[in-house]
Amino acid sequence: MFLTISTRGTAALPATDLGYLLHKHPDKAQKFSTSYGDAHVFYPQADAERCTAALLLEVDPLALVRRGKGKGKGRGGAPDAALAQYVNDRPYAASSLLAVALSAVFSSALRGVCAARPERAVEPLPLRVEVPALPARGGPDLVRALFEPLGWAVTAEPVALDSEFPEWGDSRYVRLALESEKLTLAEALRHLYVLLPVLDDAKHYWVSSDEVDKLLRAGDGWLAGHPEQKLITSRYLSRRWSLTRAATERLELARLAEADDSQVEAVDNAVEPDTEAEEKPAPLAVRRRDAIVEALRACGAARVLDLGCGQGQLVQELLKDARFTEVAGIDVSVRALTIAARRLKLDRMGERQAFRVKLFQGSLAYTDNRLKGYDAAVLSEVVEHLDLPRLPALEYAVFGHARPRTVLVTTPNVEYNVRWESLPAGHVRHGDHRFEWTREEFRTWAGAVAERHGYGVEFRPVGPDDPEVGPPTQMAVFTLRTHTNEKEAKAA
Ligand code: SAH
Repeated sequence: MFLTISTRGTAALPATDLGYLLHKHPDKAQKFSTSYGDAHVFYPQADAERCTAALLLEVDPLALVRRGKGKGKGRGGAPDAALAQYVNDRPYAASSLLAVALSAVFSSALRGVCAARPERAVEPLPLRVEVPALPARGGPDLVRALFEPLGWAVTAEPVALDSEFPEWGDSRYVRLALESEKLTLAEALRHLYVLLPVLDDAKHYWVSSDEVDKLLRAGDGWLAGHPEQKLITSRYLSRRWSLTRAATERLELARLAEADDSQVEAVDNAVEPDTEAEEKPAPLAVRRRDAIVEALRACGAARVLDLGCGQGQLVQELLKDARFTEVAGIDVSVRALTIAARRLKLDRMGERQAFRVKLFQGSLAYTDNRLKGYDAAVLSEVVEHLDLPRLPALEYAVFGHARPRTVLVTTPNVEYNVRWESLPAGHVRHGDHRFEWTREEFRTWAGAVAERHGYGVEFRPVGPDDPEVGPPTQMAVFTLRTHTNEKEAKAA
């Protein structure tokens, strides 16, 4: 199994920088042991103009069989399967084993980490990848359908079964060459890491649930929007339906969360049309954050959860006020969290500040013990991103399981949409909104949630409260009923 990665140098940047990016010195041939045999890395060419790194995996078919057995899963149950374990194409073809070797040998490069040339690691570079024998179920057409949407120019030539007998037709192998100038090395490696096994479609090891995490990690930033996402996910997870569904669901959430942020910004930052004030009114997003911070101060919360924190604007705002001793942001989107971490400069934060803030990935559709023990939780413009049938799951996770004393929920008031000049009639404010509620609908939902979980609830307008259609944003403030505040409520 063999794969090469090449780059061209420029006047300013020598091609041999590839050695830094791969963390493998061009002057040395290196050997690494993997569970399936030895992987070798060497450079057939390494000069300023052109540098090629080769990865060669010498598969040990016996190790392969032993591993398969050790895990209690042989390959197939057919009578000839015993022989097929020893006589198969595994040692020769680039396949999922090569992907495993790729991740073992180039793990830092896959993550885009390069201490010696950090600026180059995040820059696209001219790349050429060649795999002389790639098993490809689906043939050259599928190879193109998988790589082209990612910015690769693809050459995929079928390899004849036997060159002396062309009438026998093509084998299931293709000779693959990929070229791109638009990708970083890490992106390129992550494409290969996922797509080589997908094309091979014969995974050599048992697929467990952490494969979903591996797939989503390697697919971050490109898989969610890929036109063949379903095929990739299903094949990568060896068609295990439950895993595929879990992955698809998480990808869908990530995609939607990232879908066209510009739309939200446009509406959120729009200035209300009916203002008489002299100064420019604050954009709605700012007003919403102010309203939330004020409500949190009023309820005396110190430890606050921002559920569906997005890119961390509210977390940043809360950290400015020392009364909030702990602020945790949770989101399903890794991309949003990465942007949030950058916004908060988490890596450069002093120790005291860093103790106050936490960001973690999680889905609000599942109960999560990490959400317990906070004074207040905020769901700012989040509920409308969930499909209505998923809402009871979120309701239970927040009000039934985490149960903070205060919960703030904001959501658009759909009645107000007629006041947005830029919004075509009948449209929601963001492509990802699954619904937008009228004031009545929001009150009904919130009232029922409060009732089911022992909370009281009050409603507040955010933004100018239009006499006819109400405010652009509606906020519900839920307060857990305790014996004390129950008595106070009765007395009042
Ligand atoms: N709270 C922020 C962001 C709102 S956008 C603000 O007010 O500006 C909605 C956010 O909810 C997105 O970041 C999205 O990733 C997140 N989200 C959607 N469904 C989610 C789920 N099931 N679990 C966790 N976060 C989710």
